[in-house]
Amino acid sequence: MLPYPFAGPFDYRVPHGMTVAPGDLVQVPLGPRAVVGVVWDGEPDGSVGDNRLRPIAAQLDVPPMRADIRQLIDWIAAYTLSPPGEVLAMALRVPPPVAAATGWQIADTPPEFRQTAARARVMAALANGPLAGPALAAAAEVTHAVVRGLADAGVIVPVALAHAPAFARPDFDRPGPVLSDSQETAAAALRDSVAARAFSVTLLDGVTGSGKTEVYQEAIAACLRAGRQALVLLPEIALSGQWLDRFTRRFGVAPAVWHSDLSSKTRRTTWRAVQSAEASVVVGARSALFLPFPDLGLVVIDEEHETAFKQEDGVIYHARDMAVVRARLCAAPAILVSATPSLETIANVEAGRYRRLHLPDRHGGALMPEVVLVDLRQTPPTRGHFISPPLEQAVADTLARGEQAMLFLNRRGYAPLTLCRTCGHRMACPNCTAWLVEHRARRQLQCHHCGHTVPIPEACPECGSAHSLTPVGPGVERITEEAAAAFPLARVLVMASDTLTGPDSAAAAARQIEAREVDLIIGTQIVAKGWHFPHLTLVGVIDADLGLGGGDLRAAERTVQLLHQVAGRAGRAEAPGRVLLQTFSPEHKVMQALAHGDLAGFMAAEAAERRPGHWPPYGRLAALIVSADSAEAADIAARELSRSAPSGEGFSILGPAPAPLSILRGRHRRRLLLKTRRDIAVQGILRPWLAMQTTPRGVEIDVDVDPISFL
Ligand code: ADP
Ligand code: ZN
Ligand code: ZN
Repeated sequence: MLPYPFAGPFDYRVPHGMTVAPGDLVQVPLGPRAVVGVVWDGEPDGSVGDNRLRPIAAQLDVPPMRADIRQLIDWIAAYTLSPPGEVLAMALRVPPPVAAATGWQIADTPPEFRQTAARARVMAALANGPLAGPALAAAAEVTHAVVRGLADAGVIVPVALAHAPAFARPDFDRPGPVLSDSQETAAAALRDSVAARAFSVTLLDGVTGSGKTEVYQEAIAACLRAGRQALVLLPEIALSGQWLDRFTRRFGVAPAVWHSDLSSKTRRTTWRAVQSAEASVVVGARSALFLPFPDLGLVVIDEEHETAFKQEDGVIYHARDMAVVRARLCAAPAILVSATPSLETIANVEAGRYRRLHLPDRHGGALMPEVVLVDLRQTPPTRGHFISPPLEQAVADTLARGEQAMLFLNRRGYAPLTLCRTCGHRMACPNCTAWLVEHRARRQLQCHHCGHTVPIPEACPECGSAHSLTPVGPGVERITEEAAAAFPLARVLVMASDTLTGPDSAAAAARQIEAREVDLIIGTQIVAKGWHFPHLTLVGVIDADLGLGGGDLRAAERTVQLLHQVAGRAGRAEAPGRVLLQTFSPEHKVMQALAHGDLAGFMAAEAAERRPGHWPPYGRLAALIVSADSAEAADIAARELSRSAPSGEGFSILGPAPAPLSILRGRHRRRLLLKTRRDIAVQGILRPWLAMQTTPRGVEIDVDVDPISFL
């Protein structure tokens, strides 16, 4: 199997004197190139005659790819209808693992050699033990050629370097907090699952602040006590600073961290430490799924409802669901954790596939925050402003008591739209069906879909009027400006992806807030992510209706989850919390569910709405996105696809229709949707259908099984 998007593995001849087994990494010719591939399971396909098979060039001296990873790759490829090689590429994204770092030492009986000053320095540098090549050259202040010369003369010889363990063992015997009765019951059940060494899936749910993290840390402790490894997936690892701090307090050492921004050196050491079981707990983003754990005993998916677990480009897959597959392949328990579980997971609990453990109350008697709806029709903000009088008053009162407040708006930048007052022109992205978002601090307009940026123009590009362009609507930058004017004494911290760029800045922000160096936090959806801010007592949501527009199947569910999570940041310690939701539709089921704290009722109503029409999770969906260079080519290809669509019992095909983002990065897009009953697999319908397509050049068909984005 080669890490490229081919339909399957290729056949190669095994040369005389070489033996290979599935999982071995080998170098093989591919056209004029030499590439690294993995010996795959199964029979050769035999389509190339024996006499024309090209031989394997070399076997790499590295540990083979584990069978469970190979199975996972095959599974994901089959489920997502992706070329298996493309999935393999994700698993091999580690630079081909080196066997062991090598260095140089002085040969046992070095031959006579011509001495020079430079050579003498090399010998002196090695007197105390072996060194890696670069370190040796640096210590002796010589070029690599000098080292090479001594090696060629046989004076120094290569040696494997013992590497210092980078990952200390977490101390699982350190006592955790004394658990409440309900926490202890849940923790005991999870410890049992770990001890069972069998596949199971448990939903651990409970209101924000109920101690879910404390409870699953007990499961991690049990896993470590059994000498096994644990994997924790977090939706946004860049925001995990507080989580890492907490883990370190609980277990005395930091866990191994895995995400796509690691340096290649850290990647390699971490990868190797996982493979040698030296790293016993890994906390990571989606790609951590492919790490080569030899003894995985537990998989935790925290914030399982988060859409960030869905990878939307390349291989389109849901890391939560694939993590469950991974757990099954290694006979390990999986724990899905959320205060606002997805309807998918709830349906799995109701169908008996997943077990549910519930924590009913906030820890330490902290109350759930009171949620108040602010009707923007009754008490609108003054013109050009976005904070209504009741919210402004509540923030002022909170700050006056010396407590912290937070304003939430799920929109980056200053304003989502820039409009010409003279001619009505709207500044749009040239590559996408989208408005450009003003980022005032950077003096730019930016497309949030393709990244296209232009300086904010002085004059309207359409009619030429100067000073006529005006921002419409708010983003967090604009709210920050309004708040600075309304609360001039407040120390404000903005939490958005533009201001918190990595784990360090996120952790620093959290510590500043915990240390009460901040009075008012203004943030985008980043603030919804599991933070624990003990002094925060007021949360104001600027636009609670924001996520409800559009025809998205899960718009209501997602809005409830997001706003409940944001609300859950308030009142996590002794002082009670309050949440003000600014809305134009207080009667909406979403606002009512939030105001009454009735998530279960909301989800039951949501289920009742989706069940009769076989909408997910009571049916299955797969999206086909046709894209082309021109609208015409996209239309023709989409119609062709539709014309050849299969028909049958229990499924239907909707569309084609222009995608809501009908142009994205210059590509014209059309969507079709396959909708099936739950007992019918979409793959069996899609595979023959897609195999019939002969797409012209420049046209692409992307498949999204279980879509959660409908753009
Ligand atoms: P959740 O993950 O459900 O949001 P956390 O595990 O973050 O809840 O718990 C909320 C806060 O309460 C944290 O600061 C946590 O340390 C604390 N906490 C939870 N359970 C206990 C306990 N049994 N003893 C002491 N502190 C606890
Ligand atoms: Zn104009
Ligand atoms: Zn764009």
